[in-house]
Amino acid sequence: MKVVVIGTGYVGLVTGACLAEVGTEVVCVDVNAEKILNLQKGILPIYEPGLEEIVTRNYENGRLSFSTDLASVIEGAAVAFIAVGTPPGEDGSADLKYVLQVAKDIGSSMSDYLVVVTKSTVPVGTAVKVNREIKQAMMDRDALMDYDVASNPEFLKEGAAVQDFLKPDRIVIGINSERAKSVLEQLYHPFLLNGRPIVFMDIASAEMTKYAANALLATKISFINDIANLCDLVGADVNMVRKGIGSDPRIGHSFIYPGIGYGGSCFPKDVKALAQTGKEYGHKLRILEAVEAVNDDQKKVMFEKIWRHFDGQLTGKVFGIWGLSFKPNTDDMREASSLVLIASLLQAGAKVQVFDPVAMPEARRELGNEVEWCTDMYAAAAGADAVILITEWNEFRLPDWPRVKTLLNEPVVFDGRNIYDLDFLQKNGFSSYGIGISPRS
Ligand code: NAD
Repeated sequence: MKVVVIGTGYVGLVTGACLAEVGTEVVCVDVNAEKILNLQKGILPIYEPGLEEIVTRNYENGRLSFSTDLASVIEGAAVAFIAVGTPPGEDGSADLKYVLQVAKDIGSSMSDYLVVVTKSTVPVGTAVKVNREIKQAMMDRDALMDYDVASNPEFLKEGAAVQDFLKPDRIVIGINSERAKSVLEQLYHPFLLNGRPIVFMDIASAEMTKYAANALLATKISFINDIANLCDLVGADVNMVRKGIGSDPRIGHSFIYPGIGYGGSCFPKDVKALAQTGKEYGHKLRILEAVEAVNDDQKKVMFEKIWRHFDGQLTGKVFGIWGLSFKPNTDDMREASSLVLIASLLQAGAKVQVFDPVAMPEARRELGNEVEWCTDMYAAAAGADAVILITEWNEFRLPDWPRVKTLLNEPVVFDGRNIYDLDFLQKNGFSSYGIGISPRS
């Protein structure tokens, strides 16, 4: 089977590479000529564990190729995936201009029956618009032919995207045609050998499923962050509370880790977009409005702790930052909490020196020369008045604390992800702060 994937970012490249890995012939298409040229040279535009090997292997064996020209590669394809961005528009709703442009391009270039599958995260009703664009483009060239549209939202997690795609928990497909259903069943068959299902449903429900999933996950994060902040005030330890509630199987342990707010390219924009859909239909999603407000505040929590520790005297202070990406194992800096904290520190007159194992090139686009770029976590701590753990990369989990202590001006640690044992740090002469845990000094 031949497939074209349009949009070669986190979702499109992983989709294309993983489909090729199981034997499908895939062409990944992108309007960004530099990206495509680099991919043809084996240079990936993103960091994602395991992706480079799969891309290289399948490019070399000829199953995976890259192009900027959809019209020249669409012939013979059974499926076209739309995997372009859906950034927030001014009112928070998903901006569909890229998706609809691709739909138009498909309608202008397809030459035989095709299943057009939207993988981008799009609001309910988008499939109708995609359909309209395809039909109009065909009419414009007097070439009506059979096709079906489907919705196949993607649930991969950045940092574990390849594994998530190869061994999905489930595949959700919204569809209204038996013909398209059998094409997609065939395409996804190799990924279901672990016994996980394809959940077929109507298109509107599939479109909604993706938003509901991300909104619920964001809700769990904001909920535990709110509880953590109350723990701070009442003198409880949120780590204990988390363990205490997580052992109830109705609650579960996942996604109830407090921190400094969610970021990334999905949760912030998807929560906003779903809230906006609610408004459009006269149904205010009150929980989601609170989820977003709590998250915005949570990104400021660590700065407040730093401010209090230094009695507001931050001018000239130096802070070593460990981790910049919005979560570990990715270079994605979109909506990263680190950016909010760094902006506050700089505004307060502090100096910031940073290290991230992977995200520094990406972060440099945002931060330029405003911060000092360090070669490792110890260089970031050197001469600093405190270190601040922002992203819980594995390599930050067990620092050489005696070395850190000798490097710091003052032995102070702010742990934005609760990965350090504050009692241990206290015994070893550090003042330390977590989220939802009493500070130790
Ligand atoms: P991305 O920004 O990394 O990649 C999008 C790509 O589309 C870019 O390379 C861009 O050049 C290309 N593009 C834009 N217009 C195009 C056009 N007309 N023709 C061809 N290519 C075009 O985006 P992403 O993170 O991969 O997200 C894509 C979609 O998937 C979004 O809707 C997102 O919400 C959703 N999603 C993302 C993730 C994630 O973790 N990143 C997970 C699940 C779903």
